[in-house]
Amino acid sequence: MFIESFKVESPNVKYADNEIHSVYDYQTTELVHENKNGAFQWMVKPKTVKYEFKTDTHVPKLGVMLVGWGGNNGSTLTAGIIANREGIAWATKEKVQQANYFGSLTQASSIRVGSFNGEEIYAPFKSILPMVNPEKIVFGGWDISDMNLADAMARGKVLDIDLQKQLRPFMEHMVPLPGIYDPDFIAANQGSRANHLIKGTKKQQLDQVIKDIRDFKEKSKVDKVVVLWTANTERYSNVVVGLNDTTENLMSSLDKNESEISPSTLYAIACVLENVPFINGSPQNTFVPGLIELAINRNSLIGGDDFKSGQTKMKSVLVDFLVGAGIKPTSIVSYNHLGNNDGMNLSAPQTFRSKEISKSNVVDDMVASNGILYGPGEHPDHVVVIKYVPYVGDSKRAMDEYTSEIFMGGKNTIVMHNTCEDSLLAAPIILDLVLLAELTTRIQFMAENEGKFHSFHPVATILSYLSKAPLVPPGTPVVNALSKQRAMLENILRACVGLAPENNMILEYK
Ligand code: NAD
Repeated sequence: MFIESFKVESPNVKYADNEIHSVYDYQTTELVHENKNGAFQWMVKPKTVKYEFKTDTHVPKLGVMLVGWGGNNGSTLTAGIIANREGIAWATKEKVQQANYFGSLTQASSIRVGSFNGEEIYAPFKSILPMVNPEKIVFGGWDISDMNLADAMARGKVLDIDLQKQLRPFMEHMVPLPGIYDPDFIAANQGSRANHLIKGTKKQQLDQVIKDIRDFKEKSKVDKVVVLWTANTERYSNVVVGLNDTTENLMSSLDKNESEISPSTLYAIACVLENVPFINGSPQNTFVPGLIELAINRNSLIGGDDFKSGQTKMKSVLVDFLVGAGIKPTSIVSYNHLGNNDGMNLSAPQTFRSKEISKSNVVDDMVASNGILYGPGEHPDHVVVIKYVPYVGDSKRAMDEYTSEIFMGGKNTIVMHNTCEDSLLAAPIILDLVLLAELTTRIQFMAENEGKFHSFHPVATILSYLSKAPLVPPGTPVVNALSKQRAMLENILRACVGLAPENNMILEYK
């Protein structure tokens, strides 16, 4: 059974006018090892830590600024939200299609809240805590191409033509702001669309982005802004001592107009300085150490990297299942071909390398979790290939072969072929990222020994479910397994309303 909303009734939870306050027992473990009579022994000690959470329930008017607004993802997301807002339906060759939010965790998935008369009861994910309504978001952003959003949607060739015709009047007047262009960081083949640029030194470009954010906030009368990079994949920046390794060095490199500071890092610095959450949806190392330090010192949310949309999402499910089942993946080979502008940009070796890196580490945590299957340092062969094939457009093909060792030396090969419009996978993820980033900034919590409420760590690991290569604070474990990432996010939001983690035990029926 499905219910639309719920409220928690518990002595540990108070719904006040402007906030939800919860007291929460966090069940965890502490590990110690001992040497007893010369024998090494691990001890696992269950431990309960009391936490308090408070969530500001005032939902702000949200502005979202996309870097690369006129790209396939940016124009598809904008179009999709307008289509939902306006209740647009359009004819396809199969049926009359209604706008929807399929693929969005916040808008189209559910959580289990319990059982009633022998039936499992589910509620929308978005009903756990008050979240921004996507249809109230004001969109804006930058692009190095001056095309308006209606033309950009047509250039993207993602949405059905009947839908595009209906959306055109809503999007024609939307024109991105000029963007920061540095041909050294993206493929040379992007040069022909770069006609809409912020000129000047790196410092002047940074100042312009800061001004753009302030102007947008003022003109659109929003309470909060979130910025998200969905522009072209850049090459990696070199991380060099004295250049970008510390905030001080990064800022002085900026003053010296150092060429190795990438456009994405410039946008991100602007956001951190303005205390505006910044999310990186592409694989490059926008977050150089000096920038991470700046975000931590200013307690300004940063998250990324790279949207976890198709092949990697599947991989972080399949390998988790195999390793969790005691089966040993030994070779994982992933081919992709796509024909959109992202594919064209990735056809240059430097930008492909960024994608290759972000796709490569995705199985590490699962492999490391099972020392019965893998010896120290042992790892499956893992190869990723991406090719640009213009004809297939946004309809990306991903072919994966997983070879595993099974019982008694047997071999198992699983082959998958996935065809899907890339931007229709990414757009709902962008929506979730901005909604969850905004929500995160309204949550404060403290452990019993801390004495004072604080926000989440500015490096937002809570967004990992949506990221191919989750950015984590130094010294923090990276979790890629999709079910664990989802459980982490859901359970933290449940904690905010005093609900225990979903444990799937259903003891009442055992
Ligand atoms: P796209 O090429 O259609 O759009 C990118 C846009 O960014 C273009 O309009 C371009 O003009 C603009 N741009 C480039 N550099 C800019 C800059 N410095 N400032 C402002 N604008 C700039 O690509 P897309 O398909 O929308 O994908 C966007 C990004 O998302 C890519 O990096 C891609 O790798 C990443 N990504 C996409 C998916 C997916 O499923 N679609 C998944 C993971 C990551």
